[in-house]
Parts: sequence; C-alpha cells; structure tokens
Amino acid sequence: MTPHHVPAGLPDGIRHYIDGRVVDSVDGGTFEVLDPVTNEPYVRAAAGTAADVDRAVEAATLAFRQGPWPRMKARERARILNRIADAVEAQNDRLAELETFDTGLPITQALGQALRAAENFRFFADLIVAQSDDAYQVPGAQLNYVHRKPIGVAGLITPWNTPFMLESWKLAPALASGCTVVLKPAEFTPLSASLWAGIFEQAGLPPGVFNLVNGLGEEAGDALVRHPGVPLISFTGESRTGQLIFANAAPMLKGLSMELGGKSPAVVFADADLDAAIDSTLFGVFSLNGERCTAGSRILVERPVYDEFLERYAARAANIVVGDPYDPATEVGALVHPEHVDKVMGYVELGKSEGRLLAGGGRPPGLETGNYVAPTVFADVAPDARIFQEEIFGPVVTITPFDTDDEALELANGTRYGLAAYLWTTDLERAHTFAHRVEAGMVWLNSHNVRDLRTPFGGVKASGLGHEGGYRSIDFYTDQQAVHITLGPVHTPRFGVRR
Ligand code: NAD
Repeated sequence: MTPHHVPAGLPDGIRHYIDGRVVDSVDGGTFEVLDPVTNEPYVRAAAGTAADVDRAVEAATLAFRQGPWPRMKARERARILNRIADAVEAQNDRLAELETFDTGLPITQALGQALRAAENFRFFADLIVAQSDDAYQVPGAQLNYVHRKPIGVAGLITPWNTPFMLESWKLAPALASGCTVVLKPAEFTPLSASLWAGIFEQAGLPPGVFNLVNGLGEEAGDALVRHPGVPLISFTGESRTGQLIFANAAPMLKGLSMELGGKSPAVVFADADLDAAIDSTLFGVFSLNGERCTAGSRILVERPVYDEFLERYAARAANIVVGDPYDPATEVGALVHPEHVDKVMGYVELGKSEGRLLAGGGRPPGLETGNYVAPTVFADVAPDARIFQEEIFGPVVTITPFDTDDEALELANGTRYGLAAYLWTTDLERAHTFAHRVEAGMVWLNSHNVRDLRTPFGGVKASGLGHEGGYRSIDFYTDQQAVHITLGPVHTPRFGVRR
C-alpha cells in the first residue's frame, strides 16, 4: 500500500470556540482523536464539561438577547449566509482532504459534501427571504397575522458520519431563522467542525452567534441537553442516544428534532430493472463505508429473481475496492474508529450463524491494520435474526427472499426503525401502493437518496421525531406567534354594567 497521506497544516490541538474566541476547556481537559487508517492519535481535542457549556450558552444567550443577529432583516442575514456558502465552496478541496483524514471516507465521496453543505446555506438564505408570514382578515372585524420569531439558543448535537455536511443541515436553518447556536460535534471526528469558526468570522457573523463546544456525549452533550438556557435541541445520532436525550430534556419540555438510526429495506420485485437495482442496492449500502443512516441494509428480493440477484450481487460486492481513503479508486475506505470496527465485526461473526455468507466476512486481504472491513453479504437471513433487526452501520447487508407483496410489506415493516425504503419495480401501481403502506419517512422508487432540499428528511418509529428540510426546519427554529388586531370599533361583550 502507498504511504498514507497526512494533510499539511493539521492543527496542533482542537479547541472550543466561544463568544468569538478559540479557547481551551475550563478544566484544561482533552481527549485523543485517532487517524482511522493507522489508529494513531493525531491530535488532542478539548474535552468540554458543563462549565464550558455554561460559558457557550451564556455567550449565545447574550448574542440572542442583545446582539444584532435575531433583529437583522432576513435579507441581511441571507447576505451573510450566502457569504458562508461561498467560503465553504471555496474550501471544498481542503474540507474533503480533512474530512477524509478524520472519518476514513473515500476522498471521491467526501468531495461533494462541502458543496452540499454550501447548498444548504444558499437554500436557507433564499427560503428565509422568500418566506412571508401569513395574514388573515376576518371580514370587517379583525386582522390576524403570524409573526415568526427565532426561539433562542439552539443546541445542535451531531454524529461522526459525514460530520461537516450534517452540521450544515442544522447550522444553516438555525442561523437563517435568527437563532444563536451551540454546536457539539461528534468526538470521533472533531476536525472539520473547527473550520466553521473561521468561515463564519470571514463572512461577518457577529461574535457569540455561533459557539462550538467539543467533548464527549455523556459530558458536554448531556450538559447541553439539560441546560435551562437552551430551549431547543436538534440531534442526529443513534436511537438509543435519542431516547436518553428525550428523557433528559423532558423536565424542561424542550423542542426536540431527532434524526436517528435506520435499518432500511430495499425491496426488489421480480419485474424490476435488475441491472439498475443491483447497481443501486450495492451503492446504497456500501457507499460512505456503509456508515450511512439511510443505508438500504436489508434487501428483500422476490423469489423468481432471488438466485440470479444473489449470484450477481455477491460477485459485485466481492469486487468492491477497499483501501486507502485517498486513493481515487477506493470505493470503501476505513471505518471511523476501532471501537466501531469491533461492533461491526461482532455482527459479521454473528451473521455467520444467522445467515449464509456470500461475500466478505472479515478484514480484506492485505489490509491487516487500520479500520478496514470487507463488504459483507449474508443471504437467506430470517426476520428474527439480530443482523436483520439491528443497525450495524457498516459495510454489511442482509438479503431475504419473499413470495408476495404482503409478505414483503411485513418484512419491510418488521423492525423498530422507519427511516427510508427503496422500491424496485416497473409496475407503478404496485410501487405507489407499497410506498403508501411501508413504514418509512422517505421512499425512493427506482432511485437512490437523491433529495431536493425542499423535501422533508426524517424517519418514523425509532428513526426520528420531526423532519429537517425546507420550511419544516424553519418551523422548528421559530416560534409562530399569532397576533390578533381589531379593526374599527371594539365590540367586547360588556361585563359589570348590569347592577
Ligand atoms: P451517537 O448517538 O453515539 O452520537 C451522536 C452525538 O450525540 C455525538 O455528538 C455524541 O457525542 C452525542 N451524545 C452521545 N451521548 C449523548 C448524551 N447522553 N447526551 C447528549 N449527547 C450525546 O451516534 P453516532 O455513533 O455518532 O452516529 C451514528 C448514528 O447516527 C447511527 O445510528 C446513524 O443512523 C445515525 N444517523 C442518523 C441520521 C439521520 O438523519 N437519521 C444521519 C446520520 C446518522
């Protein structure tokens, strides 16, 4: 293997950013961040505690109560958001280089992510300008209108898969709405989040509007969730963490938006375009190293094409190029962290007794160090198997046959999750009927993961609460106050005049 690329100019430490200043933790605590290819620590990051969260929330509160940001005209905020988008776009190559280094994602797949993040800022800049409040006139009597107000300090807690891009999903609408924010990025991948401060400063975001506290989930994340000065938490991560956050935020009745785990079915009917279905279901689970919330990780195939599908799918999976994330030929890179590899490998071993191994099943030959896992395919997996039920979040897929649409639906709906579903059929009636009955927040018909930013993104059941995307994001970060005005003479029933 060629020597591993290490980006020039890596920081000598990753710190917090509070009230426009780069700062260490109050108690000086730090934690190690690993390079996923060598598993060597490459930097130490500040380990935030409740004291750091307090400082960040204080700065964000002051910026919200006294600063210009929430009071600016939408058009002025939009101008700054567009400048942020320009800066993100201009740094696309550098961001991809750093993101690949920190996450182990193939560089070819990391390259588009900064562009998508920039698009998020442009989209919400346009949306906030175009959005006009509703007004209703009750004939001759009253004018009612809805006044949107940013809610306050938003706590944003994000995961390690595609970190920069997922942070932009929350930052762009929160800032567009006029909220101030405290971001707590994932501890496995804090590198790219530290770029936001420079980008925001350059674009003219006032100090205190964006604050960043690094640290562990149970410490810094938990302190943010429980902080009485933070009325909103937008969280993306595991369903189990979502449950904890739900419980810990309950006493304060906080606003919650949750994008959680998935175990999404990809249903291939016998009448499907099999070439397209195979291409897409391979990409759907093995792109982004399989560390994708919407991965189509349970493939259900109608019996008449089952054997052909298995044979062709397994041959292609065995052919996937695994290796150095910086090699442009690489299709699956290094998983994020050795702890995560242990989890994924645990499922791979379990799968050998729960299904029939068709491809992969361990480390790829020649890649004995680093977090590499061979793309792994299990066939004939029963619905009660743990590898069918539980989110693995790695390059592992199960394949299960079905005989009728009803059976496919029962299998598709047969887990606690409900994030996405992918349907492959040339029969439009069948596709729509199935789509409406499947328990998934998002359905892709003969398509994969392409989303216009106006459409909602989110899951049902254990996959989430609420939606991100389009005006739904703005609804989350704003209060819609109803104002009622009497036009003309006041006609209030007169109390206290009869005696
Ligand atoms: P995770 O739940 O372990 O961590 C996510 C974030 O929560 C991290 O920043 C972590 O530090 C923080 N955290 C952990 N415990 C906390 C606590 N008690 N209180 C507050 N914060 C806490 O998830 P992960 O392993 O980083 O990410 C992978 C998961 O994210 C997968 O389940 C994946 O499906 C999901 N995900 C979902 C979407 C979606 O849009 N639905 C998108 C990406 C990832």
